[in-house]
Amino acid sequence: MDPLDALEAALELINSRPLGRRPDALEHLRDISPQLLELVPRQKATSANDTPAWRSIAEVRQLRDTLALALLAGTSTQAHQTLEELMDINPPEASLDRTPEPLAAELAQALIPLLQRAATEGALQWVLVCPDPACRTVFLNRAHNRRRRYCSPRCGTRARMARHRQRQSG
Ligand SMILES: [Zn+2]
Repeated sequence: MDPLDALEAALELINSRPLGRRPDALEHLRDISPQLLELVPRQKATSANDTPAWRSIAEVRQLRDTLALALLAGTSTQAHQTLEELMDINPPEASLDRTPEPLAAELAQALIPLLQRAATEGALQWVLVCPDPACRTVFLNRAHNRRRRYCSPRCGTRARMARHRQRQSG
């Protein structure tokens, strides 16, 4: 997987976090994007590894929240440090004696090296948070468009209309 695609997939996972009145959108295996699941060697959830321990969504949520700390840290030093720590708690050697290994650990092992490459390539400066307070979607500004602020034209239009209304009433 391309490091930028991995970063984008990680941001999509981060967007499942609860926000304000919005509940946690990560509840089941199917809430994890197919691109991310493809990174997990044993994602072919056969009945053998289709166990609560393997699928522990709570652990994936924990991974997600730590990834958010790393990728939204604002500095690449902080990002690298947090990713290193995540790698330390999910060592590749563990897979030898843990069968089936929890989904979160396999996901971390596959994803983190890609995110480290993305960070090294300077991609984190293009990670933006939509300024719309009701949205706050995190996204990757892949076109490196310095004027782009909102996650979608919809949020941009909503903000423009709000400013317009404010001017008219002001
Ligand atoms: Zn938005």
